[in-house]
Amino acid sequence: MSSWQQYVGVFLLAVVTSVASDNYKELTGNQVWKLNQEDEATVQQLVVDGLVDPLDHSGPSTSLRVTPETAGLVKEVLDQAGITYQVIVQDLARYLRVNDVIQRSQVRKELRAQTCTSSSCTAPLTDNYMTFDQMEYYLAQLNSHPRVSVSSIGKSIEGRDIWIVHINRSGCEGQEPIGMTPRFAYSAMKRRTVWLEGGIHAREWISPAVTLQIIHNITHDCSMGRGLEVYVVPMANPDGYVHTWTNNRLWRKNRRNNPDSSCDGVDLNRNWDFDYGVGASPHPCGETYRGTSAFSEPETQALREAMLQVNSTGTLQMVMAVHSYGQLLLYPYGGPASNPAPYKEKMENLGKLFVNTVNKVHDKTYKIMNANELYPASGTSQDWAKGILKAKYAYTLELRSKKTFVLKPDEILPTGQEVLEGLKMVFLALAREKNTQ
Ligand SMILES: [Zn+2]
Repeated sequence: MSSWQQYVGVFLLAVVTSVASDNYKELTGNQVWKLNQEDEATVQQLVVDGLVDPLDHSGPSTSLRVTPETAGLVKEVLDQAGITYQVIVQDLARYLRVNDVIQRSQVRKELRAQTCTSSSCTAPLTDNYMTFDQMEYYLAQLNSHPRVSVSSIGKSIEGRDIWIVHINRSGCEGQEPIGMTPRFAYSAMKRRTVWLEGGIHAREWISPAVTLQIIHNITHDCSMGRGLEVYVVPMANPDGYVHTWTNNRLWRKNRRNNPDSSCDGVDLNRNWDFDYGVGASPHPCGETYRGTSAFSEPETQALREAMLQVNSTGTLQMVMAVHSYGQLLLYPYGGPASNPAPYKEKMENLGKLFVNTVNKVHDKTYKIMNANELYPASGTSQDWAKGILKAKYAYTLELRSKKTFVLKPDEILPTGQEVLEGLKMVFLALAREKNTQ
């Protein structure tokens, strides 16, 4: 088959697929502009003004998503700053549809043995991304496991449950971590807890996919997380996630209908009450819109209450928020004013243990850095956990890849595998620590 025939074939398939489910329709006419020069200050200002969506997440962004509404203004700002650029994607909706069809056909080629229905979903899917409904089917079935309790910590704006999974240390007694002397065994210890958060940014699909794998592994393997109580919220932004399946694959925020604005949504990871407002957008159209006040959103309120509750029952040793992308492990603070954070060196050391382990599994390169070195971001769950809850270790993990949120399904399993290996080492180190706070 000649290449043009292949192209037409793909295009026709794209049209057919788009009728069935079009989660690119809100990206029609969106473009990607590639800047010829790095200019972090100008890009940050465009982000704060709600005019662009920066698409590079492992350093200063030179790729920007620009909507038809903002293109004129963005061009003016870039011209004034003397920045030249090329339009590298003319229509993001069309571009993503074509790429998605190629991905889906690759998945179809493999023999798919995994299922997840309301009556049968005994493990998270690793050969494809799960819908929110499928996540709920899995969590419902997981709840019958003796070491697990699944409960709702509250509802999203559109009324969906935000689920928390508590994996209890009971049931794995007598299997203290290797090297753990009786002096530090469970009975002598203050209850130590770990908190993992996934899916707060809707488009980062790999985050809940990996977080669910972590839940499954800890639940079914007593060697992982021994000596720790683990709490996981695998999907912190269910409305936004559903929107990425129905309307806009690149949707990030929640589904708040902002009064007096044509733009919806609040960035749930800029809505926390620590350094609130700095390094976030005050404009509802901004991808990092912080909301009308700290904790204005039901999703962040629910997470806050649950974290306070967990913190009151023991020592919160580590909080990790799982995001994508960039292959980075970030530690507080993301807001510039409060650095350095308490236990900065310890966070760095434990973080190095994590990334060094992760990097060996599939030869990917993750790096550790202070969140503020990447770009200023405040009002995040990581900073709140550190600054207010005084969690000794707080991290934001940016998963694969280094260039896009739209990660192929065949990367779900290896990404989960590398993170699990890293977490195993981290959990062991946490369980062995003598002093807690
Ligand atoms: Zn994120």
